[in-house]
Amino acid sequence: MAKQILLEVVTPDKLLLSKEVDVVVAASVDGEFGVLAGHVPFLASLAIGEMRYRVGNQTDYAAISGGFAEVTGEKVTILAEAAELAREIDLDRAQRARERAQKRMAQAQAEQLDYVRAETALRRAMLRLKVAGRTQAV
Ligand code: ATP
Repeated sequence: MAKQILLEVVTPDKLLLSKEVDVVVAASVDGEFGVLAGHVPFLASLAIGEMRYRVGNQTDYAAISGGFAEVTGEKVTILAEAAELAREIDLDRAQRARERAQKRMAQAQAEQLDYVRAETALRRAMLRLKVAGRTQAV
């Protein structure tokens, strides 16, 4: 069996995940990156984006709402502002957040609301909807 790498996902609230995996793919602000055991060390700034990780033939997904990744040859640490595993995402909540954000964006100019903030909330909601729709196995 190929060597595994420890994946840890930490949020301000909790340790979301600590698991030996075969490969991790996450979204940095510069695009997606994939990590296997033995990768050269690097730091990346994370986008609001999907993370996936594979163990054997099972791929699981998480929604990562920005943060940082620290990669060493043995470990990937994701320090996320917010993160949810696909199966933990509350679909109704994400749909409500999407509608709220869309309304705010539409009203932003007239009512001097913060357009960028609403747009960022929309991106989080859209990501959660996408990740929640992923199947557990690929
Ligand atoms: P909302 O407006 O629904 O609170 P938000 O994008 O403002 O959404 P965040 O500030 O990113 O929420 O997250 C606050 C906390 O709620 C975090 O712990 C995050 O993981 C969790 N969270 C947010 N939306 C969902 C969701 N749809 N399902 C499960 N957990 C969620």
